[in-house]
Amino acid sequence: MTKIGILALQGAFAEHEQVLKALDVETVQIRNQQDWETHADLDGLILPGGESTVMGKLLHDLDLFEPIKTKINAGLPVFGTCAGLILLAKTIVGGQTKHLASMDINVARNAYGRQLGSFVTNADFKGIGEIPMVFIRGPIIETIGPEVEILAQVNGAIVAAKEKHMLVTSFHPELTGDTRVHTYFLEMISQSKKEKL
Ligand code: GLN
Repeated sequence: MTKIGILALQGAFAEHEQVLKALDVETVQIRNQQDWETHADLDGLILPGGESTVMGKLLHDLDLFEPIKTKINAGLPVFGTCAGLILLAKTIVGGQTKHLASMDINVARNAYGRQLGSFVTNADFKGIGEIPMVFIRGPIIETIGPEVEILAQVNGAIVAAKEKHMLVTSFHPELTGDTRVHTYFLEMISQSKKEKL
């Protein structure tokens, strides 16, 4: 059975848990180093939305930063939503402190300004079709490396992408009741399991 860890330091982790439960997937909350070590057999990891600066600091304070980064870089499938996307980005516009820096994307935080900070729209997601997208002071991906595939764009801005075993969205699929992006991530996990056989 598939077992997914959800980083549960701060932010919208409970919502991801509910979606995965609805999809009959086992989930575990990762709150500290002991959780991470106990669940060394995870098939995938979710980095939720919240505040990337706070989560980044907590990762260091709790000694989770290096072990998580090492495992992601070794191929652990990971799905970052909103702040989770920022945590995975190699660079952040304006030279702000980067975090795990595992994915070859350059990201602008709070890219929609104050007025348009939060909104809902429908747009096409490659391989899925049109889905609802909830944005809450989300980032946009300004530039991508050669290995990165664009999965969705809204008004010309990249809002979902994939690089090897890493999936990111600027929006919050866990808040819509539409489980297809999570299913997409589960398929990435099955694929990576097959590749390891
Ligand atoms: N604005 C937040 C950040 O910069 C992200 C917002 C979110 O995750 N909903 O980290």
